[in-house]
Amino acid sequence: MNNDSTVKDCYFCTVSSGNADPFIFENRSFIGIFDTNPVNPGHALVIPRRHVVSLFDLNADEQADYFDALRGVRGVIESTDLVALYAEMQTRDYLQGRPMDHIETVLKLPFLGRRPDAYTVGNNDGRAAGRSIDHLHVIVLPRYEGDVENPRGGIRNVILARASYQRR
Ligand SMILES: [Zn+2]
Repeated sequence: MNNDSTVKDCYFCTVSSGNADPFIFENRSFIGIFDTNPVNPGHALVIPRRHVVSLFDLNADEQADYFDALRGVRGVIESTDLVALYAEMQTRDYLQGRPMDHIETVLKLPFLGRRPDAYTVGNNDGRAAGRSIDHLHVIVLPRYEGDVENPRGGIRNVILARASYQRR
């Protein structure tokens, strides 16, 4: 789908126009892709077709389509042969010459090929929160038992110094 909100030089406008990573999911408002710098097997992104910067800027139609996209992408993650995916990703022409270290690392993880045990879902909503490309991209990150030493608190750990808490 083409739309007139595409912003020149925005990488995720290029992606959502179908000119980069292959779609693994699409609905009226969103497309999904597998991240080519995966931090865990199945790491995927949900991206609005329209150039929307913040989750809080989604219009009513996009809000209505948001959970459909999250659920749809999760379904693809869980039905994809991720070993084959990353082997194929290494052969993509447009990735040649770029660092492949994330793909190579994921291919060696002991839990590659297992069904995810959990998910971390969210986005970095603003530069101060770590957003590096100003077009909304919601991370759907499969989690596996043992992928980090201590997962307690999850995304609280983005502020590591004050993340730890005790609860009886
Ligand atoms: Zn954009």
